[in-house]
Amino acid sequence: MAGGAYISIALGFAFGGAIVGKIKGSSFFLWFLISGAVPVIGLLAAVCYRSERDELRRECPTCGRVCKLHDALCVRCGTELEFPERALASEAATPVAS
Ligand SMILES: [Zn+2]
Repeated sequence: MAGGAYISIALGFAFGGAIVGKIKGSSFFLWFLISGAVPVIGLLAAVCYRSERDELRRECPTCGRVCKLHDALCVRCGTELEFPERALASEAATPVAS
């Protein structure tokens, strides 16, 4: 049953791509679909996608503006930003040295 083997491999790539996408703050479901539809290419796309947003970011809790993780103040509304519980980009990236 070559079909079954292919499905197993595709699911493996789908989960891999989905996890990579999720870690980067993107959609788990979106990358699951992409990586499942085009297993190797989808996973590679997820990995490349990470390189474009390897700078950690977070949303301002007051106005929702996306700021850099290391910003102390929101550049739009001036809210003092605590270190966030969740970042918008990769958690696998090197922690911000401060
Ligand atoms: Zn703000």
